[in-house]
Amino acid sequence: MATREIRIMGDEVLKKVCRPVKEVTPHTKQLIEDMLDTMYQANGVGLAAPQVGVIRRIVVIDVGEGPLVMINPEILETDGSQTGEEGCLSLPGKAGQVTRPNYVKARFYNEEMELCEVEGEGLLARAICHETDHLDGHMYVEKVEGEIHDVHYEEAEENEEEEEE
Ligand code: ZN
Repeated sequence: MATREIRIMGDEVLKKVCRPVKEVTPHTKQLIEDMLDTMYQANGVGLAAPQVGVIRRIVVIDVGEGPLVMINPEILETDGSQTGEEGCLSLPGKAGQVTRPNYVKARFYNEEMELCEVEGEGLLARAICHETDHLDGHMYVEKVEGEIHDVHYEEAEENEEEEEE
């Protein structure tokens, strides 16, 4: 298991428009492995490559249904809306209300560079929007309604306990 340093908001790399992936090399596979390890260790539901300092269009997501690796993701369709709490590993201990589509259909390449599609509702739809935004240099804080607030300590502690299991 290898984790990478998560870049924190204010880091210039988080403002870059990421480059598409043309081929999956052993180097790319290692990056994806490390991104998954980093996401799980930080107890996140998603992570984009620029968050570990790599300006490539790769995101990893796990909303509790297993890992989803998306290379060059592109949102094709959205529907409905949901407003809820959103946080980001690049802004630890904070959260804010963000409105996102409730349904998203996206196209992406898998690690074999096969074209795939995914449809998601609720948290998965939110995660796909949040992570693909990172690839264009955007953070959820630009979309927050009201104030960004601290996440309760108790909540953070609970997450830590879950992680130990
Ligand atoms: Zn994020």
